[in-house]
Amino acid sequence: MSDQQQSTALQLAVQLMKRESPTPDDGDCQLFIARKLAPLGFVQTSVDVNGITNSIYTREGEKEGVLAFAGHTDVVPTGPVENWDYPPFDATVKDGVLHGRGAQDMKGGIACWMAALMQLCSTFELLPTIQILITSDEEGDSVDGTVRIVEYLQANDKLPDAVIVGEPSSAQQVGDTIRRGRRGVVQVAMNFHGKQGHSAYPDDADNAIHKAVAPLAAIAAIDWGQAKDGFPATSCQITNLNAGTGASNVIPGSAEAFLDIRYNPSNSFAEIKALIEQTCDGVDISFDFRHEANAFSTPDGKFLDTVCAAIESTTGIITNRDTGGGTSDGRFLAAAGVPVAELGLTNSTIHQVNEQVATHELDTLTAIYTKIITTFEA
Ligand SMILES: [Zn+2]
Repeated sequence: MSDQQQSTALQLAVQLMKRESPTPDDGDCQLFIARKLAPLGFVQTSVDVNGITNSIYTREGEKEGVLAFAGHTDVVPTGPVENWDYPPFDATVKDGVLHGRGAQDMKGGIACWMAALMQLCSTFELLPTIQILITSDEEGDSVDGTVRIVEYLQANDKLPDAVIVGEPSSAQQVGDTIRRGRRGVVQVAMNFHGKQGHSAYPDDADNAIHKAVAPLAAIAAIDWGQAKDGFPATSCQITNLNAGTGASNVIPGSAEAFLDIRYNPSNSFAEIKALIEQTCDGVDISFDFRHEANAFSTPDGKFLDTVCAAIESTTGIITNRDTGGGTSDGRFLAAAGVPVAELGLTNSTIHQVNEQVATHELDTLTAIYTKIITTFEA
């Protein structure tokens, strides 16, 4: 890797970080990206919605296939600025470390992808079509961000063949971990209906706790199946159970329970809902089911193999294909049927005071991205 390439990723990261963009602000980062990419043949399409800045940058390729990169320009708030060693938007580089908000999450990752493309275009390498999908609404509500970009791509029949999400996936070293899926989340509020009364006169009451115990025990005992494809088995936890007036002689008229379900992609929301309802069949109860996040999983195959081979040939690392962590914008692309691999910098200081990244990590990630782009096949 040349010194020039190293400095390109670092310079781009610094320039992005200096554009202050607390979520959902973009701070003109996307304009900066457009100007840097235009000479390489990228055309910017804006998909702004409700004040959220979204861009699709497209460069038509010389060979088959469409490879996308997805990321975000918004950053989480800094917290008390006086607690930072270096001002969070100065992008200070000192002793081989880049300091500031967004260094890892994820302006650093965007800079690496751009640096890889600049280098590749300057050598006239034959490339697939490249899409860069950038939103300023990832750290906030994520309501008008990547999901809107995906809607636009679907409506225009332009979904990519695969996507690298540039979130900081790595644990100790760049490339040691990619995320190929995430568990889904279902939450259920349950209300068991009875009739309040005096405990000495049970015939004129209907005890809601008595109604709740058998169905809840049955729910806790449901067999959701096995761990599969790197995902742990689906877990259903009763996280809240509230009933009773506090008085010792009052039969409660209602009981509330709350379920938190983390499901693996071999289960579905519809299946989970049906099973819970079935278990409570015949009981006077009302439900409020919420599908908080879709599960997704990119199966083992050519795309993940390409990504892992690129990491191994660049760094020697055998990558862990992980499914942990919270949720990510990868779910919106996965829901549209696009294979997703999340691969980025290490995540040791994300969202913290003194967010920072070692500059050699930027060089390593740039080299990995370069390899992925050149070896990608649709
Ligand atoms: Zn992020």
